[in-house]
Amino acid sequence: MQRLKILKTHYITHNVKRFVLEKPSNFEYSPGQSAYISIGLPGWEDQKRPFTFSSLQHWDYLEFIIKIYEDHKGVTAQLGKLNTGDELLLHDIFGTIQYKGPGIFIAGGTGITPFIAIFRALFESGNLRNLALLYSNKTKDDIILHDELTKMLGPAYRNVFTQEGVIGFRERRIDRKFLIETIGDFSSRFYVCGPEIFTAEICDALISLGANPEYLII
Ligand SMILES: Cc1cc2nc3c(=O)[nH]c(=O)nc-3n(C[C@H](O)[C@H](O)[C@H](O)COP(=O)(O)OP(=O)(O)OC[C@H]3O[C@@H](n4cnc5c(N)ncnc54)[C@H](O)[C@@H]3O)c2cc1C
Repeated sequence: MQRLKILKTHYITHNVKRFVLEKPSNFEYSPGQSAYISIGLPGWEDQKRPFTFSSLQHWDYLEFIIKIYEDHKGVTAQLGKLNTGDELLLHDIFGTIQYKGPGIFIAGGTGITPFIAIFRALFESGNLRNLALLYSNKTKDDIILHDELTKMLGPAYRNVFTQEGVIGFRERRIDRKFLIETIGDFSSRFYVCGPEIFTAEICDALISLGANPEYLII
């Protein structure tokens, strides 16, 4: 376990907060990996929750992008109250989504976080090619790092809004019909990350449309 100071923290959407933490020396992790984190305050130290690194190994700080759920009255609500100088505890690190080659990335809400690290690594090394992102959110105010995703992915980045309610935006879900209209080739590799129901529905639809279950990275 490592006790790490928050170097910087601010809201990047109305309910998503970015945390920049000091990086322990000789610390190793890779894009798509997550860590159990708790808050370094009495009563909170044993309350561990999983979050994904959005920073890259060679950066001199760690970054997490965290959605704050005020109504859960749990760890993220408390994280919402923390400031520079407060401390977080970094516990075990574990692998979640790993980049296995070009494909179509489908994210719902904070499910974008493992993809951010993967895209950043590929972008930095000049290898961000032959992939596309379908990113679903309730409204455009919920999008995480829209400008950076646009810069990295250009036309390969597409937003889907489930509750936009604004003229000119189509309210849609990423469902079977959407996938048929949007994806020509189901022999591609697919990366899917988001809430459990989102992931399960999309994976079922992809498989029923001919995707190879071995090419699904969830
Ligand atoms: C591998 C992995 C990586 C993740 N990475 C990230 C990431 O990078 N960024 C990110 O933002 N999230 C990420 N998550 C999700 C994140 O872990 C959860 O949002 C977080 O654990 C929520 O913690 P919490 O204590 O605030 O709330 P919870 O632990 O969800 O809930 C605390 C309490 O609130 C109550 N509660 C639960 N649901 C509700 C509800 N809908 N309404 C009211 N009360 C409720 C329950 O009593 C519960 O005990 C990741 C999850 C996993 C599995």
